[in-house]
Amino acid sequence: MATIGEKPLALPKTKPFMPDLVFFEPKALDYEMGDRLYRQFKEMGTPIKITPSHNRVVGIPGDTPQQAYRNAKNTLVVGIKKSMDLEQSKPSADYSLPPSTGCMGHCHYCYLQTTMGKKPYVRVYVNIDEILATAKKYIERRAPNITTFEAACSSDPVGVEHLTGSLHKMIEFFGQEELGRLRFVTKYANVDSLLDARHNQHTRFRFSVNSEYVIRNFEPATSHFQERVEAAGKVARAGFPLGFIVAPLMVYKGWQEGYEKLFRTLADTLIQEAKKDLTFELIQHRFTPTAKKVILERYPKTKLEMEEEKRKYKWGKYGRGKYVYPDEQARDLDETIRHYIATYFPEAVVQYFT
Ligand code: SF4
Repeated sequence: MATIGEKPLALPKTKPFMPDLVFFEPKALDYEMGDRLYRQFKEMGTPIKITPSHNRVVGIPGDTPQQAYRNAKNTLVVGIKKSMDLEQSKPSADYSLPPSTGCMGHCHYCYLQTTMGKKPYVRVYVNIDEILATAKKYIERRAPNITTFEAACSSDPVGVEHLTGSLHKMIEFFGQEELGRLRFVTKYANVDSLLDARHNQHTRFRFSVNSEYVIRNFEPATSHFQERVEAAGKVARAGFPLGFIVAPLMVYKGWQEGYEKLFRTLADTLIQEAKKDLTFELIQHRFTPTAKKVILERYPKTKLEMEEEKRKYKWGKYGRGKYVYPDEQARDLDETIRHYIATYFPEAVVQYFT
């Protein structure tokens, strides 16, 4: 039986993602990953279709928009990343470097609900070598500064790593880059294939964690908390710098006890090695009017609190804003969570609260 430190896991392991339907761009088959995935899915009998572009996939079945959305989340699209202009990725890193886009998870609050719009299917990019060559150019341009890249801006790349092997390549690439660093975050526990990657401590491996209430109500189709903590222990044992993102931080009845329990459990179950050089990133819950509409269509029974009157409108870039907690509540969240971290992880660094 799997264990967290010495404690047995109570819940069954979450199965790695396997799509019900796969689309390929024809040119993706010219790449090793595309060819390998094509043969793998053919052998497994998974339905395969061809699409001219990973940006315009048609033919995902579903009688209602909700059904089509669910089916899209179980659809994999294997394509080539064309745009090599890397977007900024503040506050977590300098640039975004995605090996995939979209996610099989069903987190109600996920920002991909709106950023992926009508394309909620999971895309993986076969031209990982070209993506890494682009990173190299950006690193050289900023030398002698260190340049940091975030691989999880538009997906959860660990969730598809058993299919792609891309993160393994990325970790080893950055392991050799004196001035390049990689970071990513995950809610999935299938980390075993990454543990032997020669990282040279240039990759910070982060896990997204939250209180029981948030995970239970809003994070279907992701690895459960115990699995994430067990995976974090393995990653720490493999010598990776480790971090946790606690997001989205939510205010609900009993949130203080819920979050204190999270940090207490984390401190009790995490192996000792994992507590060295630990970072925390804190992100409060936010939503946009568009996100609210989409979330209520897709998860009509969600308990997600999205009442504009209880929030503060924060203006963002290009005149597009979002609803965050009012200043006093945000300050309370920030201070309370920092206090728990200082209590249970006195050596850890809180990188930001936003
Ligand atoms: Fe979104 Fe992350 Fe949940 Fe995937 S695991 S649905 S990327 S929040």
